[in-house]
Amino acid sequence: MRVGIGFDSHRLIEGRKLILGLVEIPFERGLAGHSDGDVLSHAIADALLGAAGLGDIGQHFPDSDPAWSGASGAVFFSRILELLREKGYRPASVDTVVILERPKLAPHRDAIRQALAAALGLDCDAVNIKAKTAEGLGEIGHGQAAAAHAIAVLEPL
Ligand code: MG
Repeated sequence: MRVGIGFDSHRLIEGRKLILGLVEIPFERGLAGHSDGDVLSHAIADALLGAAGLGDIGQHFPDSDPAWSGASGAVFFSRILELLREKGYRPASVDTVVILERPKLAPHRDAIRQALAAALGLDCDAVNIKAKTAEGLGEIGHGQAAAAHAIAVLEPL
């Protein structure tokens, strides 16, 4: 068994779709970034890569590469699953924390779990999403950014 940790944060700005955990969530702002800004998928991607000793998302999908402009986390996951397979691992479970002041994630939690589980080849109950606010503190608390933490467990193929 291997365990990895991941973290990501992005600014919330106007004129972008809000994508979290591969799911588009209706909101007046979205996450800035070279890719689609999906902090939750990026944190999970880093946790998966970390668990396999494969570095981080920036090494595999550099934001200087136009190939990843606007890229969905699904694209990253599909490549990362290949890399894990080459090393003889597959995801076993993922646990996450999303820190976001607004919008509330509860109504979207099941959709996010289903989307991530499908992309990672996991059962829904092996993907957990915990949604927190920053209680009004700091840039996340003022609604200017969102962040996510993730832990991933890998098992041998
Ligand atoms: Mg990111």
